[in-house]
Amino acid sequence: MQSTTISKQTDTDISENFPLFGQLQNYEHEQIVVCSEPSVGLKAIIAIHDTRLGPALGGCRMWPYNNEQEAIRDVLRLSRGMSYKAAISGLNLGGGKAVIIGDPRKEKTEALFRAFGRYVDSLGGRYITAEDVGMDVQNMEWVSMETKYVTGLPKSIGGSGDPSPVTAFGVYKGMKACAKKAYGSDSLEGKRIAIQGAGHVSSHLAHHLNKEGAELFVCDIYEDKVNALAEKVGAEVVDPDSIYGLDVDIFSPCALGGVVNDDTMDHLKCDIIAGAANNVLDEEDKHGQMLLDRDILYAPDYVINAGGLINVASELEGYNEDRAHSRAAKIYDTILDILSYSEENNTPTFVASNVLAEQRMQDVGNIHQIYTSDSKFSGHIGEMYKHKL
Ligand code: NAD
Repeated sequence: MQSTTISKQTDTDISENFPLFGQLQNYEHEQIVVCSEPSVGLKAIIAIHDTRLGPALGGCRMWPYNNEQEAIRDVLRLSRGMSYKAAISGLNLGGGKAVIIGDPRKEKTEALFRAFGRYVDSLGGRYITAEDVGMDVQNMEWVSMETKYVTGLPKSIGGSGDPSPVTAFGVYKGMKACAKKAYGSDSLEGKRIAIQGAGHVSSHLAHHLNKEGAELFVCDIYEDKVNALAEKVGAEVVDPDSIYGLDVDIFSPCALGGVVNDDTMDHLKCDIIAGAANNVLDEEDKHGQMLLDRDILYAPDYVINAGGLINVASELEGYNEDRAHSRAAKIYDTILDILSYSEENNTPTFVASNVLAEQRMQDVGNIHQIYTSDSKFSGHIGEMYKHKL
């Protein structure tokens, strides 16, 4: 038999010769599953980032990506974010996400979602799916015909329904925690607050803020939506482009990601940024540091908007709305912890939350190595342990 020498792979080999593994190893993902069923047009990717805390839970996004690379990048970035969101929120869940490549306005069929459900099921619970951009509860119901590993189902069939009321409640609590740090009191009475977006989350959020006596400013790209919300909560309507430069205490991004960027940074006059949108900082390192330098308190997005995940996660134990709300209320303490860590270590708040989330993944991950009756034991004999060169 011919012997072959396998040389040790360097990081360069991995990223150049094996770009997919390079990307997985870059952020320490565990697994990526590529799902194809041409008969129904299914092209999906499931990414599992980290399961040390529990099964990976995260939504499925349907989007007309321009190419596979774009879809892979998105699913890897989003699934990693879910690990951190679950960890910092005290949930016993790992991070995962799925993307279906396709146009949600034209390519949705029952068969497509059922095929996706079969692939979710094949993972035996390592990944639990939910709703995300481009999906609705009807689609999740189709997925649920093929797998039990699905959350975010309509209340009528025992699910948790629309997560935005709980998301908004968590954002409200997180905003109060920021006020406590910045002003010494968590009262939002009389505070001038600019809300970007008049959608699901912001409508519920504006209701809480109005009840507490805040002075509200809202914008949306759709006039009818913003007018309707402004009328309900007594807010002033502002132009979407001028929202960044308003002289307010708090800016609450509840529409898009990437809104704190090179163009908007210099316009910001607020003391606090606290909203529901994901990926608020265009470039985390750069813009997180700039906010710290400018003394603007930033509530990290995945922490303050975790109410949605908390809501779907409670569906796994039998949904109870009060319990979901009381867990989302804890976002207040979590944000205070992060702000304190950030201050003590003079580090941006997103770095502080990453450190705390990683600590929990590591601590609980270590505990899970203790042998219990549920652990696997085999009497089979493996290789004698050798030092590998
Ligand atoms: P939504 O689609 O109901 O609302 C978003 C609103 O923003 C829409 O009315 C839209 O017209 C408006 N908008 C879009 N571009 C805008 C712009 N340039 N300026 C002003 N308004 C603009 O979405 P949602 O469910 O309320 O979610 C809002 C944000 O919170 C999203 O970034 C979402 O990813 C994030 N989020 C939502 C939840 C949830 O439970 N729904 C949970 C976590 C995070």
